Amino acid sequence: MLVSIFVTTIMSMYKLLFLVLFISQTACSQTSNKANTKNNSMSKNIYYSTTNKEKVVVPDSVWKQILSPEVYAVARQKGTERPFSSPFETSKEVGTYHCVACGNPLFKSDTKFDSGCGWPSFFDPIAKGAIIYTPDNTHGMTRTEVQCGKCKAHLGHVFEDGPPPTGLRYCINGVVLALEKK
Ligand SMILES: [Zn+2]
Repeated sequence: MLVSIFVTTIMSMYKLLFLVLFISQTACSQTSNKANTKNNSMSKNIYYSTTNKEKVVVPDSVWKQILSPEVYAVARQKGTERPFSSPFETSKEVGTYHCVACGNPLFKSDTKFDSGCGWPSFFDPIAKGAIIYTPDNTHGMTRTEVQCGKCKAHLGHVFEDGPPPTGLRYCINGVVLALEKK
């Protein structure tokens, strides 16, 4: 009888030990999952902020790891998206359009108009320093390139055939815009 009680006690202790080991292992795996999640969020765009106004100076090699290939090709390699390919081209959503790379506010939806040119078009930027203007004489044309004033991402070009009151048409690649809806 005594032996039987002894064995039962030992068995219970083993069970308890097993349970403790199991719980600690589960806890460990949860911790490592959390660590993975943290690492994943670290590889996302840490330079995107709609409130921080500081200039963002980041090498293209770093942007290449952060931005999608489509955004990188336009923003950092001055590419042009296919006309009529952006959902923003015909969008009537109300809000503010930001630079998708750095979050800089660029245009308000009430300055957007239907130009029919195939790209989202605006007649006025949100603020004077929001945009950088650079002469662009490539492709046999004399144009003015517009870049993000915060991270220098290529946005598109500005032309002098827009509607009043500015008479300007900011022809912008939709892929480099992020709309923050009102
Ligand atoms: Zn930017």
